[in-house]
Amino acid sequence: MPTPAIISKLPAVGTTVFTVMSALAAEKNAVNLGQGFPDFPCDPALPGLVSEAMQAGFNQYPPMTGVPLLRDAIAAKVAAIYGHRYDAASELTVTAGATQAILTVLLCCVHAGDEVIVIEPAYDSYVPAIELAGGVPVFVQMVVTPDGYAIPWDRVAAAVTPKTRLIMINSPHNPTGSIMRPSDIAALREIVAGTDILILSDEVYEHMVFDGQQHESICRYADLRERAFVISSFGKTYHVTGWKVGYVAAPAALTAEFRKVHQFNVFTVNTPMQHALANYMRSPAPYIELPAFYQRKRDLFRAGLEDSRFRLLPSDGTYFQCVDYSAISDMPEADFAKWLTTEIGVAAIPVSAFYQHAKESGIVRFCFAKKDETLQAALAKLSRA
Ligand SMILES: *Cc1c(COP(=O)(O)O)cnc(C)c1O
Repeated sequence: MPTPAIISKLPAVGTTVFTVMSALAAEKNAVNLGQGFPDFPCDPALPGLVSEAMQAGFNQYPPMTGVPLLRDAIAAKVAAIYGHRYDAASELTVTAGATQAILTVLLCCVHAGDEVIVIEPAYDSYVPAIELAGGVPVFVQMVVTPDGYAIPWDRVAAAVTPKTRLIMINSPHNPTGSIMRPSDIAALREIVAGTDILILSDEVYEHMVFDGQQHESICRYADLRERAFVISSFGKTYHVTGWKVGYVAAPAALTAEFRKVHQFNVFTVNTPMQHALANYMRSPAPYIELPAFYQRKRDLFRAGLEDSRFRLLPSDGTYFQCVDYSAISDMPEADFAKWLTTEIGVAAIPVSAFYQHAKESGIVRFCFAKKDETLQAALAKLSRA
């Protein structure tokens, strides 16, 4: 019997550039600054705490909404940093990473034909998630200014229609390393005021903002958080991207709808990790020290490229550094990234991969969440480009 034919729900989705570049990097033995995760270990206390939780018998289903101790720790952290205390019982839900949180938000509130505004370049899971929910993505592209990437809010405002259900934002921003500033918040407030538009705020890099700048969490603003799903991920904060534990903070009415879907697409998130994270969060030191930790790596990497032909764009947050390579080549970004991997020996990600319709800016993204020796090895090679 032949395999029955099915009509793809995501016909445009194929092998991602991340998979392609990682495979090429491995094949060519290149230094891989493409992949967006650390090549150094997490704090050894973390696996120790997981092991303790397992030994203590925390091996069965936890509550659907997350281990209470962890929800309490998240509520306390958000209150301490952003000045608003979410109710741990009715407004916080632990998720299987930010990716599941994003999909679940879209599934719970986007109906067929609803429009969702996506600001490009955008994280790769956003558009497939909108499409699975039956929504229609409406794109607004960031502009590249001399000060780096910026959101053209007049174009966001012009994209709003009576069908707009939700606006997706991401700050600090992957892939550009830009952050939202008070002027961005003011523009967003003006656009949503008096409407029913919801906000999905992807803040997985909330603890990686540099040069003493403030992370403009949506949690800080009453008029925004009342309509927002705010998402974070422990994977990014604690160097454990493989753990896939995150959370969603949202007002009770939104959380109630979120949980209806969450209950049936994951039900619960693994128990020992949640206990480990709750205990680890007793000390704020790891996330308080994170900006300095990554700022030093950013500065090391930037200093190493200072005399190169790459033009450095600002990196105000995340662990990404974008560079303009137009002084080196006029190749399209994907070709340049392949050339860089094959001929120079350093893998990067073309920013065009974060657009639905190929957009060429002559910019690639490097990840600096790497050991110093990895960064040094990459810099030695990049100096030949
Ligand atoms: C890594 C990342 C995610 C996914 O986080 P997980 O917790 O691994 O699912 C979501 N959004 C952005 C912008 C990311 O960079």
